[in-house]
Amino acid sequence: MPNIASDRTIAPLESPRLGEPYLLTPGPLTTAYEVKEVMLKDWGSWDGDFRAMTAQLRRELLEIAGDTKDEFDCVPMQGSGSFSVEAMLGSFVPRDGKVLVLMNGAYGKRIAQTLSYLGREHVTIDKGDYMPPRGPEVAAALDADPAITHVVVVHCETSSGILNPLKEISETVYSRGRKLLVDSMSAFGAVPAGIADFRYEAIVSSANKCIEGVPGFGFVIARKSELEAAKGRSHSLSLDVHAQWEYMNKTGQWRFTPPTHVVAAFLEALRIHREEGGVAGRGARYARNRDVMVAGMREVGFETLLADQWLSPIIVTFFSPAHPAFAFDRFYDLMKEKGFIIYPGKLTVADSFRVGCIGRMDEHVMRCVVEAARSSLAEMGVDSAAPPAVALEERSRLAA
Ligand SMILES: *Cc1c(COP(=O)(O)O)cnc(C)c1O
Repeated sequence: MPNIASDRTIAPLESPRLGEPYLLTPGPLTTAYEVKEVMLKDWGSWDGDFRAMTAQLRRELLEIAGDTKDEFDCVPMQGSGSFSVEAMLGSFVPRDGKVLVLMNGAYGKRIAQTLSYLGREHVTIDKGDYMPPRGPEVAAALDADPAITHVVVVHCETSSGILNPLKEISETVYSRGRKLLVDSMSAFGAVPAGIADFRYEAIVSSANKCIEGVPGFGFVIARKSELEAAKGRSHSLSLDVHAQWEYMNKTGQWRFTPPTHVVAAFLEALRIHREEGGVAGRGARYARNRDVMVAGMREVGFETLLADQWLSPIIVTFFSPAHPAFAFDRFYDLMKEKGFIIYPGKLTVADSFRVGCIGRMDEHVMRCVVEAARSSLAEMGVDSAAPPAVALEERSRLAA
């Protein structure tokens, strides 16, 4: 069994230790026992101890972002990740600005939808389910429309697992004098997304993704000049990044009730992140998780949606087998019985499912995942995991 209780105090990667299934999902994800344990205490949000925790959280996130010149600041925002994306868009895009949204999945679509709610003018490049937006097409769109002030892009599009080419996109955006805002929700902390890696004005992530905390807040890391310029711009009181920033700098407190336990858990998650070797260490473990899991699944006969070049170390989409005895719901239940929660796919062309590589688990767990998939297929009477021909045709269109 993969998740037997361990009595080691620091169980490198044997959490959850509570007999719970592993969450092979892109957040909320499986967290370390120690992360859960620190939530067994209450904190007063106004108290000096908690204010120090907030300050530490902001400082450590800026360190991860590599803000060596003190040009950026970190503003945590209550809510799930989408709240922080909305806060970023409403605060950094002027009311008379115009946005180019690069879409290749559900999260890019959500950005365009959010801009509609906010009444911000926008255009899109829609690449469908998973094709990556590339520099030259972004350049053409920007050259054709001088009114565009900002480009927004999703770093790892979690709906397919594709890692978008951020460096190429950023260079294109700034070579044309425009500004970049990034949804790095499912990449920050495991994929290089620092200030030195590619240029941006603001980047967003949340507590329950690659830092491996529990859900409850997100954070915006933004250039201070942009934070200053955002004064009075937001459509929303609670999602006003400038107001939260100013208040936090003045009082050390959040404007409204903070998720105190979540912040405590996050600091423990940051400690473990540092101990693991920061972004490089975490990224290496996730990449190893992916490599072991993908190799094993391919051996069983499953096929990935994406070519190796585009596979992120975050989450991988597999085509569902074409075999008539395969049914996702049954497969899901059989996997859950064995201790693994997988994730349905989100493609329009072919049936698919996803397996996350992030969270408190390592390659040993991933080997168990592959074995669980193998025996689940056998239990269903599926003797071939090969996808339908239409799926493979679609995939070769991507490769071309
Ligand atoms: C998780 C995620 C979000 C935020 O989703 P919430 O459900 O609001 O936490 C946004 N963008 C991406 C790319 C994500 O992976």
